[in-house]
Amino acid sequence: MTKVIPLKTRRNCTEQQGKVSLIGAGPGDPELLTLKAARLLNECDTVVFDRLVNPEILEHCRPECERIYVGKVKDHHSMPQDKICELLVALAGCGKKVVRLKGGDPFLFGRGGEEIDVLEAADISWEVVPGITAATGCAASTGIPLTHRDHAHAITFITGHRKQGDLDINWQLATQNDQTVVFYMGLSNLQEIASTLISKGKPASTPIAVIANGTQSKEQTVIGDLSNIAAKTQAAKLPSPALLVMGDVVLCREQLALLRAS
Ligand code: SAH
Repeated sequence: MTKVIPLKTRRNCTEQQGKVSLIGAGPGDPELLTLKAARLLNECDTVVFDRLVNPEILEHCRPECERIYVGKVKDHHSMPQDKICELLVALAGCGKKVVRLKGGDPFLFGRGGEEIDVLEAADISWEVVPGITAATGCAASTGIPLTHRDHAHAITFITGHRKQGDLDINWQLATQNDQTVVFYMGLSNLQEIASTLISKGKPASTPIAVIANGTQSKEQTVIGDLSNIAAKTQAAKLPSPALLVMGDVVLCREQLALLRAS
């Protein structure tokens, strides 16, 4: 059973200083975990994990490992970032080997940098173990190559969520040609993202895919173009987490599917 123990009531505090391993759990498929992540999970005293982490991954932990969930529970907020940092400092300060487990890669839209700043300021040892990010995981499981000699010589990862009400997107960057653009956290703003891209000069026929629950058995993909993707995605009722992948590489998927079928 996972519960948050108030810092004041924590026991077994020793003078010995612990360590925090920030680990990427990958996009969902438990087999996409690194060997290093599996070893550290097996060795740790406490694991602090997020909503996007597949619970099956926690099976690498020993039974006595303390499991602390800091993600969002239905109708409740997730633990604020400063409280998470405080928790990590308190646990490692008690001499514990702590794993901070995050979905995907900790340094890609994962606030890993902020947590390291706090650990560093508190003189706590830390390390980062990379994970497979949603973009490469979803690309592999759907058969969409992110780069391609004929279509995409660069990739841009952008966050599609709002900051103080506005989309915080560099539209000049997002509309450049010969690249693949991947939007994280863009599902709820898909309509606005697609229509703004068109108004900023992207052809309405630009291919775009939306991949929900990528790499998991419940993965769903919708493919369209900028003019129809929002309606198609809404009709298919795609859930979160979902990734938007825009560019000609999306069409390679259909070519690959045809090749596989022939
Ligand atoms: N650090 C994570 C990203 C965290 S931001 C990583 O490297 O993947 C959260 C966003 O990631 C979600 O809103 C969604 O856009 C994307 N995402 C994470 N897991 C996903 C999955 N299995 N399928 C599709 N998108 C996913």
